[in-house]
Amino acid sequence: MIDVTLLGTGGGMPMVNRYLASTLLNFKGRKILIDCGEGTQVAMRKFKTGFKSIDLICITHFHGDHIFGLPGLLSTMGNSDRTELVTIIGPYGLAKVLNGLLLSLSYLPYDIYIIENPKKPIAIKANKAGLELEEIEDSKASNNCDMVLKTIELDHSCHCLGYSFYVKRMPKFVPEKAELNNVPKEIWKILQRGETIEQNGKKYFPHMVLGEERRGIKLSYITDTRPTEEIVDFISDSDLFICEGTYGDNEDLEKAINNKHMTFEEAANLALKGNVNELLLTHFSPSMDEPEVYKENAIRIFPKTIIGHDGMRKLLNYR
Ligand SMILES: [Zn+2]
Ligand SMILES: [Zn+2]
Repeated sequence: MIDVTLLGTGGGMPMVNRYLASTLLNFKGRKILIDCGEGTQVAMRKFKTGFKSIDLICITHFHGDHIFGLPGLLSTMGNSDRTELVTIIGPYGLAKVLNGLLLSLSYLPYDIYIIENPKKPIAIKANKAGLELEEIEDSKASNNCDMVLKTIELDHSCHCLGYSFYVKRMPKFVPEKAELNNVPKEIWKILQRGETIEQNGKKYFPHMVLGEERRGIKLSYITDTRPTEEIVDFISDSDLFICEGTYGDNEDLEKAINNKHMTFEEAANLALKGNVNELLLTHFSPSMDEPEVYKENAIRIFPKTIIGHDGMRKLLNYR
């Protein structure tokens, strides 16, 4: 299960009732933050999400509306006695930008591990102490993890990354299969967890006790960008597709093209082509007071569209 909270749904500059881009994922008691616009830590307090167990921060790009909240949040996490490592993923230039942003922080009681523009998928394993991350060759090589993170390069006015998170679902345990394969009962649980074990000179594998593959949960996050064909592949079959909808009005298409953003209609077209289950729009232009007014422009193309608002929560479960 993933618990998603939209902390801020604004683009450009903060408004009284709309904070800047930031989304928090809660997974197995640990947290992943995507983007950290100005005011993110205030939104966290307002929506009572907590910030202590944030182990991973994914930054899409270095425009202020996605990153100006980072020094403040990292500092507050330090003041809350955090000592565990924090990993930050972002596009080319991440180390340089972070060095600049962190100049004003004299001391942090934890280390920061930087992953710049990852080309390979990242396997994530959650445990009580935090998230363990490991770059892997491809998603199939991810037997012993809970989640696989992937990135895509987007078409914005600077280097920008989109993210997807796939939560794996273990196949069902089939006792008949375990018996048929003569697997000793005392190691059933180990194989059931997806681990391999050797006993009395014989190797036992998970497939000896498990049934067929089962579909997991896919969440994708795309902002800021123009629509591209690569995005369609990247988001395909997502349970939830969180996407920028900077402009609701179709008449703002030229603005969207010039500023490298999208209209609601364009986001809905991506959702349709990508065969996603649900589209959640966010990153609204400050010029748009009530994004709901333009909902029809997306619904017409993709009926399962939701207009995001600050504090909105979505629980994603296995289907
Ligand atoms: Zn933005
Ligand atoms: Zn931007």
